[in-house]
Amino acid sequence: MFKLDSATQLLDTFRPKDRRTVELSPDFTFPLVVKDYLAWKHPAGGRVFLVFAVPGGVPTGIAFDSNGGGSAAVPAMCSWCHCTAPGTGIGLLTATLNGSKRVGAIICEDLSCRDKLEEAANRTGSSVRPAMEKLVARMGKFASDALRIDLSGAGR
Ligand SMILES: [Zn+2]
Repeated sequence: MFKLDSATQLLDTFRPKDRRTVELSPDFTFPLVVKDYLAWKHPAGGRVFLVFAVPGGVPTGIAFDSNGGGSAAVPAMCSWCHCTAPGTGIGLLTATLNGSKRVGAIICEDLSCRDKLEEAANRTGSSVRPAMEKLVARMGKFASDALRIDLSGAGR
């Protein structure tokens, strides 16, 4: 869990090059207490934003393009929550690495991984915490390995 005191602090979780693409949701009120992660769509569509924090790390924002590509024709698996249900909107989201170079992940296009994990946990009567911790760890791995973001907050 982490807390964002202001819109500025929320924007500062993103890399400088991403900040101009970020559009905050009108539903946000500050201070904003975030459990697990925060995800929202650009009101005009085409972009999805994620803010998460790994244990010991600072809140980290990623601005994704959803490329308007729609869902894959073949059933895909979300590489973060491992959901495979057809018709649940799993597709390629991409983020800028540097310059025009982009990296992507096949994930739930609306970043609704948390809802899916909670549903699965409710069905089996088990705790969602272990799966949620793995989910946030996978977000961190994508940010640090693919996007080379320092999750400790250094160099921001
Ligand atoms: Zn997912």
